[in-house]
Amino acid sequence: MNRRKFIQNTAITGIGISAGMAALACAKTSEEKKTNTEKLTISGSFPLVIATWDVKEATAKAWEVMQKGGSSLDAIEQGCMVEEANADGQSVGIGGLPDRDGNVTLDACIMNPEGDYGAVVYLQNILHPISVARKVMEETPHVLLAGKGAEQFALEIGFEKVNLLTENSKKAWEAWKITSQYQPIINIENHDTIGMLAIDQKGNISGGCTTSGLAYKMAGRVGDSPIIGSGLFVDNEVGAATATGLGEEVLKTVGSFLIVELMRQGKSPQEACEEAINRIVKKSGERIKDFQVGYIAVNKQGQTGAYSIQKGFVYTVYQNEENKKHIPEYYMKS
Ligand code: ASP
Repeated sequence: MNRRKFIQNTAITGIGISAGMAALACAKTSEEKKTNTEKLTISGSFPLVIATWDVKEATAKAWEVMQKGGSSLDAIEQGCMVEEANADGQSVGIGGLPDRDGNVTLDACIMNPEGDYGAVVYLQNILHPISVARKVMEETPHVLLAGKGAEQFALEIGFEKVNLLTENSKKAWEAWKITSQYQPIINIENHDTIGMLAIDQKGNISGGCTTSGLAYKMAGRVGDSPIIGSGLFVDNEVGAATATGLGEEVLKTVGSFLIVELMRQGKSPQEACEEAINRIVKKSGERIKDFQVGYIAVNKQGQTGAYSIQKGFVYTVYQNEENKKHIPEYYMKS
């Protein structure tokens, strides 16, 4: 069963419980929320979580953390951890499809409302790269650790060594090796990064992004997901954005930073996502048919936006007591 189906099938009970809890918590905090709302002239209600793909269990976790008064940073970490621990998802964390040599290598980054950033790239044998990224941000003088150094850091601070290559992913890799053809294909399960943005009850924004990258990639390849400004960008004064899809294209246009800057200049999250996709489209010519990029964004007022190149991209928003999958507009329709 693929990750999206798995989540569709298992999310119902979890969401029911979380929604109930959210309703209770909401009643408790409505006064507090009103004060925040007045202060910040917020149009949407908080907390709010938005994430790439259909990841309702992950958004429910993040929402639950914030409903209990937790910060958007804690919500992001715990929300992303849900997907990282899901062995059936073949694009994030354990069970992620390996590189062409059979090694599962993970990339992740996180940003807090203060604008701090932490990331790990090419990390192996560790279940929760998002948590290691947070530790890099909070406990080292650096912002990005790679490969063996990142693994060594994680082990030193108490993370356990885990085999990330599941039987299913190993079988898929062995089947791929027969032809060894590498071509990133639109919207198949070989690229499904989880990018997540959250606004907590105080109106503070954080974001995270976690992935096993492109399936059967060259050893050493790192995509956009852990790179500040490309796979993720948060500016607590303005808003935040995150990406999924062919990382090379997102990196070349520094997409998430671009979206936040466009929102700073007055564009809505939707307009900003569309402009960032249009930049890729303009540069790509005929190649545009062959790959996918999707963006999601949120502004300080709690308005959201999403746009992709191709059909097939979906995202999840948990806002106003509702945890829901959305289908955005896309460029190839026009
Ligand atoms: N953006 C990721 C990468 O290029 C892939 C994905 O979205 O799944 O590594």
